[in-house]
This record gives sequence, structure tokens and C-alpha cells, in this order.
Amino acid sequence: MRIKFLGGCREVGRNAVLLETDRRILLDCGVKVETGEIPLPSGKVDAVLLTHPHLDHSGMVPSVRSRVFSTAATLEQADLLLRDSIKVQRSKHLPVYFSERDVSRMEKVRVTFGQEFEIGDTLIDIYNSGHVPGSFGALIDKKLFYTSDFRLSDTRLLRGADFDVKNVETMVVESTYAFKEHPPREEVEKMLVEIVEETLSKNGVVLIPCFAIGRSMEILMVLDHYDVPCPVYLDGMAKKALDITLSYPEFLKDPEALRKAAERAVPIFDHRDRKIALKRPSVVVTTSGMLSGGPIISYLKKLRNRPECSLVFTGFQVPGTPGRTLLDTGYYRNGTEFKVEMRVEYLDFSAHADRSELLEFLRKTSPERVIVIHGDECERFAEEVKNDLGIQASAPENGDTLEV
Ligand SMILES: [Zn+2]
Repeated sequence: MRIKFLGGCREVGRNAVLLETDRRILLDCGVKVETGEIPLPSGKVDAVLLTHPHLDHSGMVPSVRSRVFSTAATLEQADLLLRDSIKVQRSKHLPVYFSERDVSRMEKVRVTFGQEFEIGDTLIDIYNSGHVPGSFGALIDKKLFYTSDFRLSDTRLLRGADFDVKNVETMVVESTYAFKEHPPREEVEKMLVEIVEETLSKNGVVLIPCFAIGRSMEILMVLDHYDVPCPVYLDGMAKKALDITLSYPEFLKDPEALRKAAERAVPIFDHRDRKIALKRPSVVVTTSGMLSGGPIISYLKKLRNRPECSLVFTGFQVPGTPGRTLLDTGYYRNGTEFKVEMRVEYLDFSAHADRSELLEFLRKTSPERVIVIHGDECERFAEEVKNDLGIQASAPENGDTLEV
């Protein structure tokens, strides 16, 4: 089997790995969301295996025009994100590579965990990756494992990755947090609740910008679990993502707990609702996670001069995004510019494995060879895997081909 790396090497974004067996199979095909960069051309492809809906893995799938194999939850969430991405690309004056019609025309093939299936003569098994609802890592012909984005430990929303794979020859592993440890989840949850309580005690409003898929639901569950004493509002694309997730309870750790949190959340539909939400102390969970668009911006404009209010980021802010700029400088800059007087915090609710988890996973599965992708320091991590774990390891560049 030949593997060609088309994107996502020594970088985070535009993940795309081409397998050449008797068929040409793409493992993901994403965009670099911040810049609009796309993977190298793939030529004609027989099938795409889409591991999860995030745009850095799915953003170019409609333009490949081949069958798309994935879980039902991923296919439906990807549909939502891809349609939205067309609008976002246009608003940023970035190139658009497909139309709504291309998204509708995607030939979707549903597969699920524990179901072995074939594309041509290639045998594929998929395993829960604990990243977002319905996400997976893929075992190809019982010898190559593509982790995609994964998290080993549980969150309120999801069970950790179920990567119980043995005798793997080649492991293609993500390395987003190869040099960072995440704080224990419970600690992070309690920090969130503390910020909410402090803000409420000053009669303030807490804004929580979230990624629609996965994260917004986890935050609703945390707020419900600790029973924060105020209304919790849900605005933007997160509402649709929540409906989709609830319709696939098989991918959740505790569907009942999410249902309860969802019942408590008050959906917001228009400007009138937004005004009402800000009239008294409350929490607003909305998109987008890095402040590049969505309803969060109108909330921010209304609350920016109120130091008794808080803004809590729940995910890593990529350099160059308005969220990161605000975190670093205290200013919102994205077309317009203004100072934000609110309390601004960042909490690490990551959906990725951290350094310990990555090393533990590689040690446990002990593959013959490790290929490190999807990170800012892939070469450094490959070097470490080689020296510390004694496993052959490399960090290819985009365009490299490997025979396995
Ligand atoms: Zn992801």
C-alpha cells in the first residue's frame, strides 16, 4: 500500500492522506480554516473516509466528488458545517471550491463502530476516537492505523477513544498537543463554574463562545451538572448541532444527561430574544468559538464596556484569529476594532490527547513505525518517539509518499 501525504504535515489544518491500494482512498480532506489553504491535488479518488466533521478534516470533501464513508452523526454534522463554510468563505473573500448543490450531492455511505467494511479489496475497521460525537480512527487492512484527532480520557459528553488496536505496523498519529498537558477536566469544569458564580454575584452576564460541534454541548452539560443559578441561553449554529447530536444517542456517554441539559437551555432565535437574555444575569453559549463570526460578535459589542461581565474561551485560540487577538491584546479586531473591558478567560476544554496520553497510547500499542502529523512540532515529537520509546518514527512533509 502506498500513502501520500497531501496536507496536515508539520501543520494543523487541511488534513488529507491518500491511500493507494487497489482503490484510491482519501483519509479526510480538509482546509486550513484561517487561511483557506487546501491540500495538494489528489487526482481521481474512489472514496473518502471522513473521520469527523471539523473543517480542517472535512472542508474540501464535497469538491472531491466521490463516495463519502462515515458515521451517520459525522455525515449530518459535516453537512451543517460545510454549508456554513460556504457563507464564511465568501464573507472573508476567500475562494469557495464547491456549492450548496455539491454538498447535497455528496454520496454518503453510513458506517459505524464494530462494523468491518471494504472499499475495493481494502478492509476497514473504525473505532470511537472520543473527539466529537461520531468521530473515529481507522484501521486499514489490519496494519495501518490513522488516529485522526482523538482524546483518550472521558469528558461529560463522550467516552474516551476506544483504540484497542493490536499488531499495528504503521501508526499515523496526530500531535496537536505533543508538548502540552491538559489540566484535569474536573478542575477546568470547576473553574468555569467559579467564573460564572463570580460574574453572577456582580450582576454580570457570562459569554461562552464555543465550537458548535461537541464543545457547546459539553458546556451545557457542565452548567447543568453544577446547576448554575441563572438562565442558560443557546444561540447560533450550536442549536442545530445539538439537535443532530441528540438524534444519535449511541455516540454519547450519557444521552440522558445531555437531554436534560438541552431542556434547560433556552434557545435564542432573533435580536429580540438576545435583548431579553442580556437584561439580567445569565450565561450565553454561542458560536463561533474563535470570534470570527456568528452571534457572539453582537453580544460582545453590547457587553464590551461592562467589566462586571465575562467572556470565557473554552478552546485553544489559533494565532491570527480574532479570539486570539482579544486574548493577547484586550482588543477585538476583525473589520472593526474595539476594546473589551470584560473579564476575559481561557479554559482548556480540549478534545485532543495531551502529551501524556499520546505517549501512553504509543507505548501501549507499540507499532512498528510511527508517522507524526497534525501538529506544529511534528519533527520534534517524532525524534522523541524514536529516542524515548525506541520506535521508528518520522514526520513527513506535504507531498511525501511512503510505501507500507
Ligand atoms: Zn477535530
